[in-house]
Amino acid sequence: MRLVLLGPPGAGKGTQAQRLVERHGVVQLSTGDMLRAEAATGSDLGRQAAKAMDAGELVSDEVIIAMLASRIDPKNNPKGILLDGFPRTVGQAQALDALLKEKNLKIDHVIELAMKDDEVVKRISGRFTCAKCGAGYHDQLQKPAKDGICDKCGGTKFTRRADDNANAVRRRLEAYHGQTAPVIAYYRQRGVMNSVDAMAPIDKVAVELNAILG
Ligand code: ADP
Ligand code: AMP
Repeated sequence: MRLVLLGPPGAGKGTQAQRLVERHGVVQLSTGDMLRAEAATGSDLGRQAAKAMDAGELVSDEVIIAMLASRIDPKNNPKGILLDGFPRTVGQAQALDALLKEKNLKIDHVIELAMKDDEVVKRISGRFTCAKCGAGYHDQLQKPAKDGICDKCGGTKFTRRADDNANAVRRRLEAYHGQTAPVIAYYRQRGVMNSVDAMAPIDKVAVELNAILG
């Protein structure tokens, strides 16, 4: 199965991706995670990417497509892939189609996690992540069962993203509406587009995704 999760920042793409990976055995490919890993190496590319990310702007299509191209090999992903945060422009969607076509593959499902802009700010401002295993939490909406201890791995260190601040979020929303929303029309024309209400609680969103994916 090859699946794309679309949605504004904070819509729950990463949260739902963790569940879909467990349920379907697909490999999650998050371009945001790849860029943060590259930035952590301190390479030239990483530094350039971090500048765009901290400003809430998109990294160039060339960089993103080159980064993703080597990772969609079906030998490494026998049960398929879940693309989280990619494609974010129509150019990226076209490049993805071309890459898959070379391998006689195609995208099976694209699901938009639809959410209002006001809610985005609330979600993003409370988001934090386990530094050890990457599990996602929220100060009010998704707390660990025991304060300060990760439910999944017992880790006690947590991180918050540099771009999860009011200014960057505003720019990220502009990028979503201006550059990523047209991707929805692109996939609608191909008959693979679905949308779920991402304002619903996490478990309800998961049920709706499972109803679409089977
Ligand atoms: P994205 O990957 O789309 O940017 P995340 O999965 O990181 O979004 O979710 C953003 C924040 O909102 C996280 O702190 C997460 O715990 C919380 N969250 C995700 N989905 C829901 C939901 N359906 N209801 C309430 N909080 C949620
Ligand atoms: P995310 O982790 O998906 O919220 O992405 C964080 C940031 O990484 C974005 O605000 C962009 O600056 C950059 N980014 C991630 N994925 C892409 C992409 N597909 N195209 C362009 N920029 C991206």
